[in-house]
Amino acid sequence: MKADILKIREDFPILSQYIHNKKLVYFDNAATTQKPRIVFDTITEFYSKYNANIHRGIHFLSNYTTDATEKSRKTIQQFINAEKSEEIIFTRGTTEAINLVAFSFGESFIKENDEIIVSEMEHHSNIVPWQMLCERKNAKLKVLPFNEIGELETEQLNGLISDRTKLIAVTHVSNALGTINPVEDIIKIAHAKNIPVLIDGAQAIQHLKVDVQKMDCDFYVFSGHKIYGPTGIGVLYGKKELLNKMPPYQGGGEMISTVSFAKTTYNELPYKFEAGTPNYIDAIALGKAIEYLNCIGLEKINKYESELLKYATEQLKQIDGLRIIGEAKNKSSVISFNMEGIHPSDLGTLLDHMGIAIRTGTHCAEPVMQHFGITGTARVSFAFYNTLEEIDILTISIKKALTMLK
Ligand code: PMP
Repeated sequence: MKADILKIREDFPILSQYIHNKKLVYFDNAATTQKPRIVFDTITEFYSKYNANIHRGIHFLSNYTTDATEKSRKTIQQFINAEKSEEIIFTRGTTEAINLVAFSFGESFIKENDEIIVSEMEHHSNIVPWQMLCERKNAKLKVLPFNEIGELETEQLNGLISDRTKLIAVTHVSNALGTINPVEDIIKIAHAKNIPVLIDGAQAIQHLKVDVQKMDCDFYVFSGHKIYGPTGIGVLYGKKELLNKMPPYQGGGEMISTVSFAKTTYNELPYKFEAGTPNYIDAIALGKAIEYLNCIGLEKINKYESELLKYATEQLKQIDGLRIIGEAKNKSSVISFNMEGIHPSDLGTLLDHMGIAIRTGTHCAEPVMQHFGITGTARVSFAFYNTLEEIDILTISIKKALTMLK
């Protein structure tokens, strides 16, 4: 992988830019990843040659684009090893996918005094839709805590579950801590009590091999833009049996079978959940991003990113006053940290002027910050196009920033 990295970086033109006259070091991959040329070439190609609204057409362009969209659905199905392609529903992203489930599953299955469990390390996207559902239904949200190194206290899960628990929603990888959660263990515990589980895969899908059948999750959600695809497109995977029992999320074109003022009937999966003109060109480009990843190989990517994480952790730990927030044994390529006496945003601003893009703040995970009694962190997050040399630039630049700030 190391030998290929320069060639791989050529596929990502944005990476060779200079920002503030410094070669860009992009370490904000957990917020969004950069796109390989094939992704935006596909978007340009479709808008310049093939664009036509999908499904409803009988002409060449419409059929061509419809086929390309369905091919992308198949690529995604195979990528996560879903049993059926109709279990793949296109959404705007992780957030919309979770809202879809919260609304639709909530309509069918959540009643007054029922309970939903989330973890303490969730992104706001996997908290707020459940809170809104609980408010609507007068149900209760329970929280599975994590310990001081940022690992979920899974042994507490059985104690939290009651005969009123109707769903468990947890993140596969924490965007604020980097923790890889033991989702298969959680699913086993939940399924022993017939409770379905939603896994937020926004930070996992681009790093780990996901097999939804092996994992046996009931729902798995992710965003295209975090897996080198376009923004505004994402995926909800759901088991067909469960999706069939859920009502549509939005009404409109394409989600119907027949419409009359007397009675409307709904389309079959996946279209039942894809009301209106979908974001089909970005869906097609997402398929291309996944094909690109498949060519490199997720195993290779995972191995290389683990090296980056290990090296960066060692380097950062040598900096006086730097405290890593989240030191789980099983981590993905995210490092959150704080510097004694320095506000993360001051550090982020100085690094920006040195050409290094990192993220600072709460990372949409305020309960994680509350757990540690902090207002935010600085976060670096890696992708397979990053290099050990860039990590050296980061450590040197942090040290330089410290002399300026202290
Ligand atoms: N969950 C996690 C763990 C995330 O990291 C994010 C994005 N930061 C989301 C959900 C929301 O993703 P999106 O904004 O793409 O819908």
